[in-house]
Amino acid sequence: MKVLVYQNGMSGLRVHAFSTGHVKVKKAHRQWRGPTAFRLPALMASVSWTEWLPIWCWLVELPDMKFMVDTGETHRVKDPEWFKGDPGNEWMLKRILRFDIEEKHTLEAQLKKSGIDPDSIDFTILTHAHTDHTGGLSAVAGKPVIMSRIEYDHAMRTPRGAVPHQWPKHMQIKPTDLPHSDSLFKDADHSLHPNVSIVATPGHTAGHQSVIVRDNGLSLFFAGDVTFNQEQLLHYHLPGITENSELAVETIAAIRSYSLYHPTIYMPSHDPESVTRLMEQAVVERKKIG
Ligand SMILES: [Zn+2]
Repeated sequence: MKVLVYQNGMSGLRVHAFSTGHVKVKKAHRQWRGPTAFRLPALMASVSWTEWLPIWCWLVELPDMKFMVDTGETHRVKDPEWFKGDPGNEWMLKRILRFDIEEKHTLEAQLKKSGIDPDSIDFTILTHAHTDHTGGLSAVAGKPVIMSRIEYDHAMRTPRGAVPHQWPKHMQIKPTDLPHSDSLFKDADHSLHPNVSIVATPGHTAGHQSVIVRDNGLSLFFAGDVTFNQEQLLHYHLPGITENSELAVETIAAIRSYSLYHPTIYMPSHDPESVTRLMEQAVVERKKIG
């Protein structure tokens, strides 16, 4: 499903949201409040699943460039062979994720149906390397893929949650090296466009990054898997899959600080309300984070 969810005739900014099917995770994956050491065993053992959640990816159109933020998941993830090649990863992924994805839900099919030429998309920014963010890379193969150097290196070495052997061959990776030091993201990478920033938001994974698009005084914050939803941002609740809890808390604090000074629409990848908030231009309320 392709939806034009934001447009500004003055600036020319348009944002399309694509939900590439749905995913269920264990409830302990969405949120975990116990000791860190028990997090992964509890998640594996749990038989309690969430409702179906969207897998958003985004097409951002500016007058002089078009880019994707993430590429969603592919229907091929339901093929038992999909994760073959990394036994540990295969075992884990098959136990913690359930997918409801048909071919018509893939990025490739949705671009085609909506008459968007994949060749017109200049590049893709990946928030991180997990399978449900990279499944549609083949739709935009041949164009640069911007991801953090740390994330790429980890995916190649120990691909926990990532399936790099299924990525398109000869992908043009443009690595980012972002500092994670400034709570207002002043050290962000603005090299793509004056109104577009890539910022380091580690915690969920070591090299997780987010994208901020500024328009008409608003900051559209494409948050990947920083949290599952906005409630977790408001209450410092961490998802169960968090590689580094300390960094995850720092990232949440940084986004909260940023949102105090900049009206911010917060859009995680699996939040059913992300698109609603963007369409309604509903910003993170200062009184809830001040
Ligand atoms: Zn993830």
